[in-house]
Amino acid sequence: MKAEKRKKAEEEEKQTQEGDQAREQARERQAVWESLPKGEVYYAPTDPDEFFNGIKYDISPRQFGLRVRKHDMFCELGGPRHRYSSFFFIEVVADAGEQNADGNGQKIKIEDGRVEVVGPEINEIEGQSLPFGFWVRYSGKELTEDYLDLLTRWTYFALEEGEGWMLLNTRDTIWLRLHKKYAAKHDFKHLGQAMLNLCKIQFPLVEKAEVKILVATEELGGAKLTREIVERVCKPYWERVDESARKFSDEDADTFYGCTICQTFAPSHVCVVAPDRPPYCGIITWIGAKVMCDLDPYGYIFEMPLGECVDRWGGEYTGVNEKIYEKSNRTYKRVVMYSAVTYPQTNCGCFEAAIFYIPAVDGLGLVDRRYSGETPLGMTFSRLAGLISGGQQNHGYCGISFRSPSSRKFVRADGGWRRVVWMPKEYKQSLTEFIPAELQEKIATEEDCVEPSELKAFLKRVGHPVVTLWKKKGGEGGEDGEELEPEPLQVPTPNSDWDAEAERAAREKGRRLQSWLQS
Ligand code: SF4
Repeated sequence: MKAEKRKKAEEEEKQTQEGDQAREQARERQAVWESLPKGEVYYAPTDPDEFFNGIKYDISPRQFGLRVRKHDMFCELGGPRHRYSSFFFIEVVADAGEQNADGNGQKIKIEDGRVEVVGPEINEIEGQSLPFGFWVRYSGKELTEDYLDLLTRWTYFALEEGEGWMLLNTRDTIWLRLHKKYAAKHDFKHLGQAMLNLCKIQFPLVEKAEVKILVATEELGGAKLTREIVERVCKPYWERVDESARKFSDEDADTFYGCTICQTFAPSHVCVVAPDRPPYCGIITWIGAKVMCDLDPYGYIFEMPLGECVDRWGGEYTGVNEKIYEKSNRTYKRVVMYSAVTYPQTNCGCFEAAIFYIPAVDGLGLVDRRYSGETPLGMTFSRLAGLISGGQQNHGYCGISFRSPSSRKFVRADGGWRRVVWMPKEYKQSLTEFIPAELQEKIATEEDCVEPSELKAFLKRVGHPVVTLWKKKGGEGGEDGEELEPEPLQVPTPNSDWDAEAERAAREKGRRLQSWLQS
């Protein structure tokens, strides 16, 4: 009884602390919002009959997935040229004029339909590449942060399904390009209008919406200004909402969700969205998918009842496999959610990072979009992404979102973090809190080595657990002092099945690594 009381008191204390933290963050966000340089203000129509008046570009699924090459671009916003210092930030705020459902925030006055463009307009930045920030605020009496994924999805459609726009990544790694051919149809004020009103028309809980579009020229502060906003405003908010999504685990769910939005450019691709498995695009969480499915049961997002559990450790379920088969146009029969090697999820093309198998050391590498150098496979992220995207099941290669490695079940069928041998330094730093302490110094970065032969020597030197999978050439009876050598997996070609014995051997290696700590 006493223990129960103590637990309840601890939970209440935690909720109070979380509420205080949310309110403090809301105050900080408002202070930054008010301190931004002033721009030109435009009021988008708030009458639904006029929501899209004045917008000249087409917004429809057939525009989805456009890629704009350098010589075709009219302008570029964010992306690698600015070391990914831009942001696309969407928040739910409590409106001062209403009794808002989200009691966490400071009450703020929202001017419905207000679009403020801080910096030059599109027609003034031809041929330029600039850092930028889109800061969108939504409010409504019943609107809470539980709807954030849905709000994000609809806001992004103004660009993802917008004629002439290329959109890659999300949040603070966002990268946009506008195609020359369509530039005359575009300006920022109508882009703002499209973002706000697409969301409002799809989602009636949004009662008020406003946006600031910051085009960060040098005079306005450039990447220094956008980076400061990311640090002070976006990251604390994202960390808080991500933490709240991590409260759920697969064991709490009797259904997962599937998404086929990316089939518009990757036929047969299906994402599985589970509490412990965020999808590639990094936009949708399991709780967000649930909300979207409840609101629109016949949309892109659908339920995946689990059925029988085939393999809890790897994350394979009969119900999920059946749904994958049905929704992939009867192309793929199996998905092991927590493996990058055996039957990984298909790869669309909007993944923010990727896992790849390195036969030369029998380990896994990670690489994200921000890293432009070569990987131990002898190719860059862009080349790798080009090879594995398009909706195929590539055993040994799997797209992920930046957040995927924070999952407690991250590639655990392959050995989890103990199988990871290489990743770019910057990406490794951003994931430090999720990498087990005993592996921090054992995972190589580009500063240690890139060449497979050097990586092999590095792993031996630091005693990486993957070395325990290596064998002497002569087997157990090999000569004393004989060098240990990796025994690469017999990975099948894309879209084909594993030989049963080879699959068993691959899974056995994962299991051995999982017990490495106890040994
Ligand atoms: S990556 Fe997956 S979850 Fe995200 S939009 Fe594409 S299909 Fe949907």
